[in-house]
Amino acid sequence: MTLRVAIVGVGKIARDQHVPSIMAVDGVTLVATASWSGSIEGIPAFASLEAMLEAGPSFDAVALCTPPQGRHRQAAMALAAGKHVMLEKPPGATVAEMEPLIATAAAKGLTLFTAWHSRFAPAVEPARAFLAEHAPKRVTIAWKEDVRVWHPGQAWLWKPGGLGVFDPGINALSILTRILPRPVFLTEAELCFPSNRASPIAAELSFSDGAALEVRASFDFLQTGRQTWDIEVETSAGLLSLSGGGAAMRVDGAVRIDEAAAEYPALYRRFATLVATSSSDVDLTPLTHVADAFMLGRRVVVDAFEDQTPTV
Ligand code: NAP
Repeated sequence: MTLRVAIVGVGKIARDQHVPSIMAVDGVTLVATASWSGSIEGIPAFASLEAMLEAGPSFDAVALCTPPQGRHRQAAMALAAGKHVMLEKPPGATVAEMEPLIATAAAKGLTLFTAWHSRFAPAVEPARAFLAEHAPKRVTIAWKEDVRVWHPGQAWLWKPGGLGVFDPGINALSILTRILPRPVFLTEAELCFPSNRASPIAAELSFSDGAALEVRASFDFLQTGRQTWDIEVETSAGLLSLSGGGAAMRVDGAVRIDEAAAEYPALYRRFATLVATSSSDVDLTPLTHVADAFMLGRRVVVDAFEDQTPTV
């Protein structure tokens, strides 16, 4: 049976990934969109989820591609209307807001899916298998990108709940928490807040597993030149390197995996399988680590950030 999906929030990620992936995956079809201003040619468009539920075509599921602030309200409304729900990352603006969604989905027999897209990068499962065999000793994460290139004009990112540099950084944490054989917890953090913004522009994090494993992560939103989404893990069997956000895996420099990332088609195949098997897939671990960083992290105020480099 074909899963009829409606997208809520037609912005960058919906256009770049969700729409083409839905079109490419068998058994999934796009039937409507709801967004303040965006629409997709040829697809019925509504200004809000409420309007789509009231006047739109029949559909089975929503993919919530809006910013995280306000996503809980949309998810609750969709579940109340009997729709399966895919939550873009981060799944919400707080950790606790997830609990009623989990309970409602379970009570109504609906699928709730926290879509950590980076976990579907081609090297992630091979890395997990490698680390199940060869214990990690030390992990170093460098997640550094230019916010002006990747998130131009996205004001929500800098508001409370927008996460700032943790918006991409949480992708690294979603991979980390998938590939490590044991859970880790935050031990120290420093978050750099621009003087004119409510969210951090850089962060340094340390984690431990309570035993010998150390994890260090550097997140930076002002990286120009080469963009870096890398994770290195020292193991007894050599240095495991994941690069390109999980697209490639090397061990002591030898290429094991190097594929074009096709995360979102895999995400939709997973969503369709979850719905077909009446199950949910909810993992809040990456969001919990981010919440811990906001709780434990030392705050440093840095230079104001303006989206456009000022012209002289
Ligand atoms: P975006 O470009 O700002 O798009 C968000 C869209 O949602 C906008 O079109 C906005 O409408 C619409 N919107 C906001 N609130 C709405 C509401 N209450 N009802 C209906 N529409 C609403 O943001 P994005 O980059 O696509 O990111 C969206 C989510 O996807 C974020 O959680 C982000 O972390 C995640 N994500 C983004 C990327 C990426 O590369 N950008 C990658 C993976 C995941 P207007 O355009 O009219 O304001």
